[in-house]
Amino acid sequence: MIQMRHITKVYEKGIQALNDINVEIDRGEVVFITGPSGAGKTTFLKLIYAEIKPTSGLLFVSGKNVSSLPSRDVPYLRRRIGVVYQDFKLLYQKTVFENVAFALRVIGLSSAEIYRRTLKVLNIVELTHKKEAFPHQLSGGEQQRVAIARAIVNDPVLILADEPTGNLDAGIAANIMDFFMEANRQGTTLVVATHDREKALKMNTHVIQLDSGRIVG
Ligand code: ADP
Repeated sequence: MIQMRHITKVYEKGIQALNDINVEIDRGEVVFITGPSGAGKTTFLKLIYAEIKPTSGLLFVSGKNVSSLPSRDVPYLRRRIGVVYQDFKLLYQKTVFENVAFALRVIGLSSAEIYRRTLKVLNIVELTHKKEAFPHQLSGGEQQRVAIARAIVNDPVLILADEPTGNLDAGIAANIMDFFMEANRQGTTLVVATHDREKALKMNTHVIQLDSGRIVG
């Protein structure tokens, strides 16, 4: 599903966020990316959903060479990937329902189908009662659950999540992890960045430990 070959990312002013990363993630795997703040976790995810390009190296996602993907092809790649952004990236002038439904409108589904799928995922994240609310009327944890609902509504083949349970109560965080794991049992590949190494190790899955842009475990 994801192959990184000698991936290096250097930001402006020479900041080296990732240094010669070689990783293979198979379809259906669950992978946690751990490491302290600044280790390169977000950069790792951004490369996969083509928000940024590597400085050098090769990156394949679903067989596509993302390291040289023309920008016009990026939306097609993203349709198959559900991303839970660390800063949520909600549309603040739209309701909760519309924030989630939006991902389905762009692929041209019928209104009935959009309604059915949107309510299904709002139910999973326990936000059906807030469907007409606007993001600024929600708590941080509720906004995060909207972001999660939006990421999963398209039945993506790959879910990328950046600290997805960071702001959530333990009970809701456990529900969301259960949901991710259920999606994984249905075949969805899961890549989750977290600074919480203990939690990642407990999940008994593939853990990639980053420090200062290098794989250290
Ligand atoms: P993490 O997600 O593990 O906290 P990041 O991938 O966000 O790490 O950051 C890795 C390094 O790259 C850090 O030193 C960070 O300051 C730097 N960095 C991240 N984004 C940028 C950017 N847009 N411009 C310059 N430096 C950046």
